[in-house]
Amino acid sequence: MRTKVILLLAPLLAGSWRSNSSAQGVATSAPITDIRYEVTFTRANGEKHQVSSTMTFTVGGTEPVLLSLPEWTPGAYEIDNFARNVANFAAEEAGTALSWDKVDPDTWRIRPRGVGQVTVRFDYLADSLDNANTWARPDFVLFNGTNLFPYAEGRGYDFSASVTVNTEAAWKVVTGMTPAGPRRYSASNYHDLVDFPFFVGQFDVDSAQVSGTWVRFATYPAGSVTGGLRVAAWAALKLVIPVELKVFGEVPWTTYTVMQIVDPSYGGGSGLEHQNSHVDVLGPGMVGSPVMPSLYAHEIFHAWNVKRLRPSDLWPYRYDGPQPTTLLWISEGITDYYADLAEVRGGIVNPKGFYDLTSDKMSQVEVMPPTSLEDASLSTWIHPRDGTEYIYYPKGSLAGLLLDIMIRDASDNHSSLDDVMRTLYTAAFKNGRGFTSDEWWATVGKAANGKSFRDFYARFIDGREPFPYDQVFPLAGLRVSRDTTRVPQLGIASLQDSAGLHVTEVIPGSAAAIAGVAPGDQLISVGRFKAEDPNWTDQFRSQYARQPEATALPVVVRRNGAEQTLTAHLRFVLRVESRLVEDGRASSKAKRVRAGLLTGTTTR
Ligand SMILES: [Zn+2]
Repeated sequence: MRTKVILLLAPLLAGSWRSNSSAQGVATSAPITDIRYEVTFTRANGEKHQVSSTMTFTVGGTEPVLLSLPEWTPGAYEIDNFARNVANFAAEEAGTALSWDKVDPDTWRIRPRGVGQVTVRFDYLADSLDNANTWARPDFVLFNGTNLFPYAEGRGYDFSASVTVNTEAAWKVVTGMTPAGPRRYSASNYHDLVDFPFFVGQFDVDSAQVSGTWVRFATYPAGSVTGGLRVAAWAALKLVIPVELKVFGEVPWTTYTVMQIVDPSYGGGSGLEHQNSHVDVLGPGMVGSPVMPSLYAHEIFHAWNVKRLRPSDLWPYRYDGPQPTTLLWISEGITDYYADLAEVRGGIVNPKGFYDLTSDKMSQVEVMPPTSLEDASLSTWIHPRDGTEYIYYPKGSLAGLLLDIMIRDASDNHSSLDDVMRTLYTAAFKNGRGFTSDEWWATVGKAANGKSFRDFYARFIDGREPFPYDQVFPLAGLRVSRDTTRVPQLGIASLQDSAGLHVTEVIPGSAAAIAGVAPGDQLISVGRFKAEDPNWTDQFRSQYARQPEATALPVVVRRNGAEQTLTAHLRFVLRVESRLVEDGRASSKAKRVRAGLLTGTTTR
């Protein structure tokens, strides 16, 4: 997704599945023209945590108009059912209320009285902080067009529209959408209309020239990123953008806007990419941490990889149901590989820092059940509960590193994965289409001097075999150093929110499961460690690492308002820690491959 989940699992949204409505024969809407949207956000509706949306259009008669809201926001590969947040829906024509009903959960059927102009209004409940959704505070709103802008069912997405924002005179409006007047914007088709999120209200914004284009940095709340923190954020942006654009050879935007929210209710951090902006949501602990440059590098690389260079399964986007692809590991994992490369190529981290980022990903993959990258890409839509929900990020990133090394080795460092990305960008995106799996592997093979990747694909991408680190890394003067440690494990995933630390998942058969810990429990303490302490898991691991197996451990949870003390019995897992290090015996060719990878160069 979009969402790069760090430290804690994101809240699991209950996606309800239904079949594609248009395929099920829901009638097509009557044609509508001259489509305008208005979003109203004042202090009054900010205090109610809502925003109001108005859609005006012209109809040619009494045929019913069917208006649908998307089920998801591209980049966030999950069904969110935005229509569930709609309240006070109403339609009118020439001052007379029109009758309406629903034809499916997110489609409204409106009956016009005749030729004329119809206005549809609704409020949107904006109390969930999620970069794919709309979130209102008394002085601020983030909104996404997928939440507020209905489209005419079955009439395609190829229509232009304008958006007017009504808000307090002193408040700011920031969006990547093309300005068309005072607080008025326009988009030439629906895909664009919903790809430019808005910040409206009181927040900080400044801008700078980077690689010949204007980049804006908008941060809420005002004062959340100031002084040295803001200088550091700008420094990171100025380092990653030039090295990322070098991969593709062009800046694809006129302006780029980084839109960032910091809020104490949010655990970890996540970003959601768009064609000329991205929205980051961070917990306060993330501000100024190494997560920030990494997140910027990841989300900005998406401006090329997925917003433009995109699997054909996702081209064009559809909004009325899930849109799975086996290639999400390329769109997300390889984007994450390039985030690490941008950091080392831009000088944010040194080579050791790059190896450490890679080692973390190897560790994340090692503790997961064997999962194929293609299967994980498809499954993300249903949020698998076995821990592999987002495995295509770290594992896809490692696949990118392995492919890059193999291409450089086979071509004597004359080509790299950068050439694959640039070639496909030109062949697919520049010709107005997505790329296929066959095209990806053909391009990889060609860059690798004709080498076949059929076996690699079958075993490691479609298949579930452990990655061949020991065969591939030495080709780049690298090797894996392994240490085995014994780690106490409770077996839960949790989420910190304003109401405390809540258990979201309990691994079947784990110490927590046998003790009776259940999803939804608020975790109060484990042993002598209070769960409100952000470092409790580290302290727990070091305190109990040398205790005997089955040591009794009191676990205090709050369930249905009452505290309960459960007894867990300590269990250990053996964790093999793999670290990527430089190989002291590297050949001169391997050293050239390594240097090329770290600096973004080839031997020409
Ligand atoms: Zn991403």
